Amino acid sequence: MGCREADPVRFELDGAILFSADLSPVAEHLKGYVGEIEAGPLQKGVPDDEDGPHVERMEPAGQELSLVIVSGRYVRAHEALLRLRKELSARMGKEHRIGVRGVRIDRYTISFSVPEAPDHPVRVPFATSLDFEGDTAVMTLDDVSEDFLSRNYVDRLVALVREKVDAQRYEGKEEFWEQIWTSTPREMPYQEDPTEDMARRGWVQQGPGKGRWFFRPQAAAVIRAMERIALEEVLRPLGFQEVISSSLVPFEVWLKTGHLKGVANEIYYFSEPATRSEEAWEELRDLVKVTREVPRDKLVGLLDAPRAGMTYAQCPNIYWSFQKRTVADEDLPILVFDRTANSYRYESGGRHGIERVDEFHRIEPVYIGTVDQLVELREGLIERYKHVFNELLELEWRMAWVSPFYLQQAGMAGGGEDEEATAADERREGTIDFEAYLPYRGTREESEWLEFQNLSILGDIYTTAFNIKAQRHELVSGCSGIGLERWTAVFLSQKGLDPAGWPEGFKRFLPELPRGFTFH
Ligand code: ATP
Ligand code: ZN
Ligand code: MG
Repeated sequence: MGCREADPVRFELDGAILFSADLSPVAEHLKGYVGEIEAGPLQKGVPDDEDGPHVERMEPAGQELSLVIVSGRYVRAHEALLRLRKELSARMGKEHRIGVRGVRIDRYTISFSVPEAPDHPVRVPFATSLDFEGDTAVMTLDDVSEDFLSRNYVDRLVALVREKVDAQRYEGKEEFWEQIWTSTPREMPYQEDPTEDMARRGWVQQGPGKGRWFFRPQAAAVIRAMERIALEEVLRPLGFQEVISSSLVPFEVWLKTGHLKGVANEIYYFSEPATRSEEAWEELRDLVKVTREVPRDKLVGLLDAPRAGMTYAQCPNIYWSFQKRTVADEDLPILVFDRTANSYRYESGGRHGIERVDEFHRIEPVYIGTVDQLVELREGLIERYKHVFNELLELEWRMAWVSPFYLQQAGMAGGGEDEEATAADERREGTIDFEAYLPYRGTREESEWLEFQNLSILGDIYTTAFNIKAQRHELVSGCSGIGLERWTAVFLSQKGLDPAGWPEGFKRFLPELPRGFTFH
């Protein structure tokens, strides 16, 4: 998080140390002490060839010693101020019976390098100003509290500025995408959007609410068949065990996984009642009885601000369940899956058909083990998935590495932009997307293929964040997202809605489609 080793950085602090008595009688002594402390204790920890902190200006005025301290990365100005306070407190107490009451930072100016000047303004919280001079960022903070410093907010603000500058550089650039494997083309006898077709035939009904579908018996049967295929042909043969997780994810869990930094705008937040008291809710109930409407503004007043959200992906709660545990070696790799918690995402304008919805059904296998165990598992998963998509569903599909561009740059996913496609087993970390051709969207070449599932090994970020350990080994983790609506959308887009045209492999899992209902 802190400053990168070689980057130039400068901290300038304008503040004061507050004493218990007037300083004018001891002004000369004070100057002597500061000089002595600056040359001694303030330089502790500064490498020989580097500049330590420097007191540029000091001015006793009444009970305050106002100061300007400038530093580089070693013993940063605010650390120097705190050291100075400690040392002065000892000397002033002993020699002059004057105590230190506290410190104050009026203005803190931090200059640091960024990869290049950003094109658009960058905003960060807390900063009074943030300007760029070429590839140097100059950030000022006013009235900085000790709490602010001790919580390490300064380093995080520097990291945030760099992250936002970086994000501007990658804006508009395509995400990294590198094909690993592709199936042979298949004949596509069906060209319709299957959701529209299903709606016409009464297999599905849009709603209730936006981005949701009511699956009538025929569609429900297809989705459940997909689920059985995933369980029986992929997960059970590889030894995955089922777990059942809550659909609510407390913020503490998402703070660890980073979801609240990454996808805050896609989360469905969850509110508890602020109280269960009959009395507090009486007016709302009465209004509902009389107006037959829900007074939403009144309702908001009866709710607590959210502390949790609905499942976005199942893995965060799964990691939570292993947190601070030391797993027995013989239980490695941990292979579990959840298929109970539905996923909720605010997709807004992106919604389409059953393939991009706000509430969906997904099986999420999660795996925790050594790097070697997980690389081997990935091979096993890919082999089983290939079996399902090639032999049972007979799909036209492909696999690609899709690690985001910035991760690629940071060398996290291995393999460079220009390199040949890397076989799946040669990379230790990264995400593979499984994509399928949807004929209703246009030609193979020009239309966008649909990601219908993915498979990741994510290194030690989650095992570290949740402090999951083994007896002897270093643990890494990963997950795969089996989107049942997406499997269904892909299958029906390519094979159509007439069971007569469905492959035998699939029909083994759904020999007969339920009748459903006809409405007049
Ligand atoms: P996309 O790029 O399509 O939005 P994503 O990268 O957000 O997908 P992940 O977070 O990787 O998706 O989720 C894993 C799987 O969950 C996807 O491969 C897909 O099967 C399913 N999925 C994700 N979002 C949706 C959605 N809105 N509707 C239906 N299924 C979804
Ligand atoms: Zn996951
Ligand atoms: Mg998405």
